Amino acid sequence: MSSQKGNVTRSRPQKHQNTFSFKNDKFDKSVQTKKINAKLHDGVCQHCKEVLEWRVKYSKYKPLSKPKKCVKCLQKTVKDSYHTMCRPCAYQLEVCAKCGKKEDIVIPFNKDPENPETNQRSSHRRSCERNEESDDDVDFDNDLDDKSDNQVD
Ligand SMILES: [Zn+2]
Ligand SMILES: [Zn+2]
Repeated sequence: MSSQKGNVTRSRPQKHQNTFSFKNDKFDKSVQTKKINAKLHDGVCQHCKEVLEWRVKYSKYKPLSKPKKCVKCLQKTVKDSYHTMCRPCAYQLEVCAKCGKKEDIVIPFNKDPENPETNQRSSHRRSCERNEESDDDVDFDNDLDDKSDNQVD
């Protein structure tokens, strides 16, 4: 009866398992992820903005640990990941800070290109951060941010 004995060994483990998984702030609620998610991709063209947003969405956005070299002024002044130009250069040349093309900039740099953070801290950024989910955590994060800022001042 049991003539199929040889077939028993066929059940080997699956070779290609889905080890690749997207994780965003749903799994990693670190402050850094929050900051990346809330990041404003200013000074870049529509295409580059979409690329950056895509990277953020799929957690492929790696923040710079230290400033990168600007292709225009050759100073280490590029503070945004994947940008090739620093803000002042892109601002002056009116080009996309990422691809360097003279495209329409979706969100123009702040008028104070050296210090974009200070001016964006106001209501706009706050409302951007407010997604429908996890309101509590976002608020908490904001509080921390504000406090540390006040201390510096
Ligand atoms: Zn530059
Ligand atoms: Zn671009």
